[in-house]
Amino acid sequence: MISPDANDLQDLVRQLHREGTAWVPCGLGSRLDWGPPLQDCTPVSCAGLRGIIEHKPGDFTISVRAGTPLLEVQEALAPHRQWLAVDRPWGSQRRGAGSLGGLVARGLAGGYRQRYLAVRDQLIGLSLLRADGTAAKAGGRVVKNVAGYDLMRLFCGSWGSLGLITELNLRTLPQPPIRRGLLVQGSLAELGALSQWLLGSSLSPERLDWWSAPLAALAGLEAAPLLLIGLASISAESLAEQQAAIATHSRLPLRQLEAEALESLLACARDDEAIPGAGRHQPGAPDDGPEPEPAWLLRLGVSPDQVPQALASPELEGLAIDLAAGSGVGLAWTPAGPGARADLRPEAVLRLRLQCQRLGGWLTVLHQPSGHAVPAWDDAPSRALIEQVKRQFDPKLQLAPGRLPGVAKP
Ligand SMILES: Cc1cc2nc3c(=O)[nH]c(=O)nc-3n(C[C@H](O)[C@H](O)[C@H](O)COP(=O)(O)OP(=O)(O)OC[C@H]3O[C@@H](n4cnc5c(N)ncnc54)[C@H](O)[C@@H]3O)c2cc1C
Repeated sequence: MISPDANDLQDLVRQLHREGTAWVPCGLGSRLDWGPPLQDCTPVSCAGLRGIIEHKPGDFTISVRAGTPLLEVQEALAPHRQWLAVDRPWGSQRRGAGSLGGLVARGLAGGYRQRYLAVRDQLIGLSLLRADGTAAKAGGRVVKNVAGYDLMRLFCGSWGSLGLITELNLRTLPQPPIRRGLLVQGSLAELGALSQWLLGSSLSPERLDWWSAPLAALAGLEAAPLLLIGLASISAESLAEQQAAIATHSRLPLRQLEAEALESLLACARDDEAIPGAGRHQPGAPDDGPEPEPAWLLRLGVSPDQVPQALASPELEGLAIDLAAGSGVGLAWTPAGPGARADLRPEAVLRLRLQCQRLGGWLTVLHQPSGHAVPAWDDAPSRALIEQVKRQFDPKLQLAPGRLPGVAKP
């Protein structure tokens, strides 16, 4: 891995281009190994691009260098009672939350998407280096922006395949003064009815997450599916009114969680201690024992009204699953611990992909046991267009070889 100083980065990229060297933009390297395997290439780290350039509390905007850790930004915003409305990424306990550049490049959001939308919606501008070292900018620094090609959103979820993000301008939000969680357990049908009502109501929960029975059990709750409702407001009265409205419509008992209990429950849903051996695949991780156990980490999405049906799929039995009800998108993984199911076969994952597609969605393999080679994703219908865009940005096809979102085998 090369970790250049900010001042040397552009020269380095120009040199790599002249030489035709294969390389991959990299943040802090916490999840570089997840997704399609990279062909031989040099990671170029953004760890040297660190720090907040400017925070304008009155404008609710912040400009940061791409290698700045997410947690550093949240800590800097906290005294202003502001935050970036994104979840801590899955696996943060073991791998760290990563950099903001990596977060945008992966483009994955969690349950807060219900109220605050996805990472791409928090982005108001970015700076980047193209494969030949040319510096470019997209968007701006203010929330109201000029028109033009929307390069910013092209780079959200680009997985390092189009260029290296150097700076980001993001929207910040005021921290809600009061937060509370409601937890409901029951059958998939009962929870489905409550979720559909809530999504169609005038209430605006911060999050509405489906958990599978195994994830509930991992968190020390009854092993039954659950809905986790996150409420936030500026006043206790409004929060009580929302809670009362939900209680009136729920045929199931609601368990109330104060902010701290809600936060520790959310930490359970993103703890990668649950995938044995995951850290072993990190570049440079020590090889200190027998083959790690099988471990799958899947990103999946279905049409929101089809979530109960998806959760009933036999292939998902025994997996820890956390899906956002409003988007139908989330993660499924093989949990660790006694009685945990570790026998998920590649054929079952492929069947599951078909099932997600039938239910209006898709499935991406982020991590799989060594020895298996399930394609991370299928070809998108727009494959030809994606490849044309790739050639425009990276004519020598130097960046992230082996990895192009929407193309099964680049
Ligand atoms: C709720 C939630 C759940 C998430 N779950 C997952 C998950 O399960 N798996 C996962 O992989 N990610 C997940 N993410 C995204 C995760 O946050 C990022 O992958 C992580 O922050 C990357 O941090 P890093 O700096 O270590 O990046 P790295 O691990 O170094 O790189 C991650 C990816 O981003 C690209 N990249 C990094 N920096 C840049 C840059 N400056 N310019 C261009 N490309 C760049 C790399 O090429 C690579 O494809 C999730 C995010 C959220 C919000």
